[in-house]
Amino acid sequence: MRKIFRASILNPIDVNTWRFYRDGALWVDHGVIMGLDDFCVIAGQMGANPDIEHLDGVIVPGFVDVHLHWVQHRVSGQFSGDLLTWLQEHIWPEEACYADTDLARVAAVRFYADLLRAGTVMGMSYSSPHAEATQIALASMRGDWVVGNVLMAVHAPHTLTDHSLHDPGALRAFLQRTDMAHYALTPRFAPNLTAKSLKMLGRVAAEHPCLIQTHLAESLTELRWVKELFPDAAHYTEVYDRAGLLTPRTILGHCVEMRDEEWRCVRARGAWVAHCPTSNEALGNRRMPLEQLRAHHIPFALASDIGGGPSHSMLHVMQRFLGVHRDAGVPVTPQEALYRSTKAGAECMGRGASGGELTVGKRADFVLLPQKSAADSVEAWFEACLSGAPADLEHRPLGTWLSGERAA
Ligand SMILES: [Zn+2]
Repeated sequence: MRKIFRASILNPIDVNTWRFYRDGALWVDHGVIMGLDDFCVIAGQMGANPDIEHLDGVIVPGFVDVHLHWVQHRVSGQFSGDLLTWLQEHIWPEEACYADTDLARVAAVRFYADLLRAGTVMGMSYSSPHAEATQIALASMRGDWVVGNVLMAVHAPHTLTDHSLHDPGALRAFLQRTDMAHYALTPRFAPNLTAKSLKMLGRVAAEHPCLIQTHLAESLTELRWVKELFPDAAHYTEVYDRAGLLTPRTILGHCVEMRDEEWRCVRARGAWVAHCPTSNEALGNRRMPLEQLRAHHIPFALASDIGGGPSHSMLHVMQRFLGVHRDAGVPVTPQEALYRSTKAGAECMGRGASGGELTVGKRADFVLLPQKSAADSVEAWFEACLSGAPADLEHRPLGTWLSGERAA
């Protein structure tokens, strides 16, 4: 299965740089990228009669979404309001439905189909507390995903806590039969666990090579609740840190309401931040202080956080990433938006060697965006690709390929 995809190609290099090939070629063999260059260069290397597929558009790497809740996909954008009220009144009743395995199976098929349609090929997903729903999400996976059942012991309806594997014996037994390459230990957030149960999770995390994901400092009401529940902690970040949950394998969702010492702690532990600009806007939370994240050299990637975020489209997330920070006078570029939605996401997931960009040896996972006119700069064309309402952006990609095969 050797093939050349001939199209314009845009590949992220780093935060500030991308490379554009007007008449480019992506050489793929058995799902793996063997070469990326101008068409004339690759054609010369392929020998006689290469199999060439012409694509009318611009190829970019498949998008990576490092924080979302697949079990909230059915209700994305339907509710808003204060974080805690939103959780208690709308989201937790929805997640309780995932005890029904037939419902979970149907929802998982739709989730992966919709994400591929929108160009997302990799990501990190919070499941409901149920072991079966999590196994269904793993078994139905299309693309490269990491999924974790949310762990909730307290301060939630028993329909969720009764199913949560927060008991160490049950959790360890579940992990025994789960593929650690696609699993994340997922304490939902500090208010749903006790200091003792968080500590137990820290021990389990140290015993297993999986990723760890949780929410941190998303809203002011949440911050006040954490202060009440953990009065002896210096700050929210310390609640996780003293449980041993902050590691280079940890991805922290949001990080909006952070003090300087908290940033220093996150930096010292090597944890990543999942930045969710659309979710912060939709739930009326404040802007994540990007300038502080940069000052503390904390690695981060972009995420939709559906169903807090109204859309699973990473094009929409990139649009608002540029919008909210520009409105606050913080400089951001389209190059950074693409980098944070592709290469940085793969690195955040520990998949830097296999995905996130179009370079030799990586999986040929890519998206075709609408054609660029010769008159437009690459920056102007890319920003035009990000413009529009969420529903349009979810359908803007012309196609998505996984390992060189058309998937949507
Ligand atoms: Zn979330």
